[in-house]
Amino acid sequence: MGRLDGKVFVLSAAGQGIGKAVALMAAKEGAKVIATDVNGELLKQLEGVPGIHTQVLDVLNKQEIEKFANSLDSVDVLFNCAGFVHHGTLLDCAEKDWDFSFNLNVKSVYTMCSYFVPKLIAQGRGGSIINMASVVSSIKGAPNRFVYGATKAAVIGLNKSLAVDFVQHKIRFNTICPGTVDTPSLRDRMAAQGDPEQAYKDFIARQKLGRLGTPDEIAYLVVYLASDESNFVTGQDFIIDGGWSI
Ligand code: NAD
Repeated sequence: MGRLDGKVFVLSAAGQGIGKAVALMAAKEGAKVIATDVNGELLKQLEGVPGIHTQVLDVLNKQEIEKFANSLDSVDVLFNCAGFVHHGTLLDCAEKDWDFSFNLNVKSVYTMCSYFVPKLIAQGRGGSIINMASVVSSIKGAPNRFVYGATKAAVIGLNKSLAVDFVQHKIRFNTICPGTVDTPSLRDRMAAQGDPEQAYKDFIARQKLGRLGTPDEIAYLVVYLASDESNFVTGQDFIIDGGWSI
């Protein structure tokens, strides 16, 4: 028996990194997974996996989200995973960078929830919405993560507001707040810095357990929050950061 048997599990950014690990683990745990991403090429790696249906979806596109939400008969879990890490301080953050980060990291959560929460209310059996924040947020500042930290703090606030407003419908909202996790985009960020080897050492040095997290380690937490094991848990922020924030 799987921990997510019988649940319909929708997620964004399933093409690589944490989202992909979550899609695979949720399917293994018995969920019917609808794995979405803006990048159809990346999604091809998930095609044919038992329990996974793939769908191209740009979470910046309200019309696409509306059409997608309306196309689903039923949903139990929504994992809003899509996000972008802007590198730099206030001095590197042009208005267009600010707007892009807020649109992808925060507004997309608002848009997805504005179509999925009414669906969950209408179904009348509750549900679990998991929103991707970061330990770099209201929890902790990190160098060169100016707009990123602001967006992830906003996700934490948005999540608490949703949790308190819809608790009577048994819809649970939780954020996950990872430290540094070894994903393709992290590798790209290291490569973009002058000395990738030094960047790798610097990322490791700040996590007290002395290593990067793995996408699977984050997926275990998402599966717990998606499952009935966490039915008494809502409105919380789950730090999973190798001790960075101790
Ligand atoms: P990633 O950055 O490697 O991959 C992101 C995925 O999002 C890609 O498949 C991409 O195609 C997709 N995507 C980009 N724009 C999209 C859009 N408009 N619509 C739909 N999909 C879109 O993934 P990751 O590093 O696993 O990060 C996933 C989430 O986890 C992000 O929100 C990120 O901020 C957060 N996070 C990551 C880390 C980390 O260290 N990797 C730490 C804390 C939080």
